[in-house]
Amino acid sequence: MYYVEWQKRGLPHIHILLWLKDKLKLNQIDNIISAEIPDPSSDKKLHDIFVKNMMHRPCGPHNAHASCMKNGKCSNKFPRKLQKETIHNENGYPQYRSISPADRGQTATIKLRNGDYATVGNSWVVPYSSVLTKLFNVHINVEACSSVRAIKYICKYINKGSDQAIFNFKNAELENTIDEVYIYQFGR
Ligand SMILES: [Zn+2]
Repeated sequence: MYYVEWQKRGLPHIHILLWLKDKLKLNQIDNIISAEIPDPSSDKKLHDIFVKNMMHRPCGPHNAHASCMKNGKCSNKFPRKLQKETIHNENGYPQYRSISPADRGQTATIKLRNGDYATVGNSWVVPYSSVLTKLFNVHINVEACSSVRAIKYICKYINKGSDQAIFNFKNAELENTIDEVYIYQFGR
């Protein structure tokens, strides 16, 4: 199942939901999805593409006025919790392995929107597939989803349709008379 959204600058943004024939086991997730900064000494190309596309721009203590900040908190739940192993979470999404800098997790230096630089660790990584990131060189968030509740939410979310505006034209002489109502779907 997939759905193409058109964002304000006209760029397509796609949600794709794939059903796997065999259920993904916890010990297989790390082979497909990563929430860690790739090591530049083992794959410099992947590291550079990753830093450009897959780090959440540091918000909160680094930038309290970032656009993701709502009521003093990051609406995308960054920085994420650091942990040594991938574990199941009751909300249906796994919490991916994400080693802290103290346990020799990688760090990366990111340019902030205000022009400053911040050196941050794995807690700012958007979960990704190294194969897809390297192949397409764009932002692709990949998540494993297993609970019925989460699947229902995603199906509803990706079928929500484009933003809409309802407007009408009035006849200036016959005030308050609605001649026609138009529904405009953005991006269509
Ligand atoms: Zn944020």
